[in-house]
Amino acid sequence: MFTTILLDWYALNGRDLPWRHTTDPYAIWLSEIILQQTRIQQGMDYWFRFMKRWPQVEDLAAATEDEVLREWQGLGYYSRARNLYTAARQIAVRGGFPTTIEEIKKLKGVGDYTAAAIGSIAFGLPAAVVDGNVYRVLSRHYGIDTPINTTQGKKLFTELAQSLLPIDKPALFNQAMMDFGAIQCTPTSPKCVICPLQETCDALRTGRIDLLPLKEKKLTIQTRRLTYIYIRCKGKAAFRRRPAGDIWQGLWEPVLTEDTALISQARLLRKDVKHILTHRILLADFYFFETDTPPTLPDEYIWVEESDLDQYALPRLIEILLKSLP
Ligand code: SF4
Repeated sequence: MFTTILLDWYALNGRDLPWRHTTDPYAIWLSEIILQQTRIQQGMDYWFRFMKRWPQVEDLAAATEDEVLREWQGLGYYSRARNLYTAARQIAVRGGFPTTIEEIKKLKGVGDYTAAAIGSIAFGLPAAVVDGNVYRVLSRHYGIDTPINTTQGKKLFTELAQSLLPIDKPALFNQAMMDFGAIQCTPTSPKCVICPLQETCDALRTGRIDLLPLKEKKLTIQTRRLTYIYIRCKGKAAFRRRPAGDIWQGLWEPVLTEDTALISQARLLRKDVKHILTHRILLADFYFFETDTPPTLPDEYIWVEESDLDQYALPRLIEILLKSLP
């Protein structure tokens, strides 16, 4: 019943998206990674750009990480781009895209959701996707108040989605769930009045639409302070590539320091510039220091021609700060 109504709804209301006209696993995978934290409209531009520049996964594997990060610039959550690149190389090494859910999940950055999306759409594998849309639609329709961010909740919703998936139409079902959650059963103001599932929807009947899906309390947001000094020396600036194990891995930044002697020689350009990441708030002070004698800096810094800076992949915050340079 639920599945039939959902598929009928999708036949009339499904979104026409470029990656739905292909079963190329690379094209589908790319769309899924881009759309993980990006709106469709913005993501589509990037998808077209990537597909044009690197039409096959082997082309992407043959690029450099910097080229990929640079093309990704503006999309944020750069770990996605790094994982994409690593996975492209994994695929090139193994000689083709994996064709089972277990093998697809071995690709860097590919979890249950993305593996099910690629597997069902590209290879017709009967694996149900479970993401925010699916949690919302199922928790409301079936009136389930198990928190979705618990192991128990994940298991329950995955099993339910899997039991609803028609074995012969996994791609259609998964795409229908995604679209139904995105268009019809939206987080706020779902269109219950014109919903084909209204007669069987538990949340509508019991007035719990705003209460479902349920989540256990949120993670705390940490605030982190950063002090940057842009050091200019004869048309060059000191930059380093950010190390692994922290935010912005692999991107470039000016001198990040707590060195008060160095800071005291510099001119303050911006103070307390606020930048919000997923689980933290960054507050950045930005200083400028011009000299003819390069100061001694830790080894990881290199001197970059300022005119070449646009060749480097920079975090969005650094791009904002650089705009205030004299
Ligand atoms: Fe979602 Fe409303 Fe439809 Fe229930 S009736 S499935 S809450 S849109």
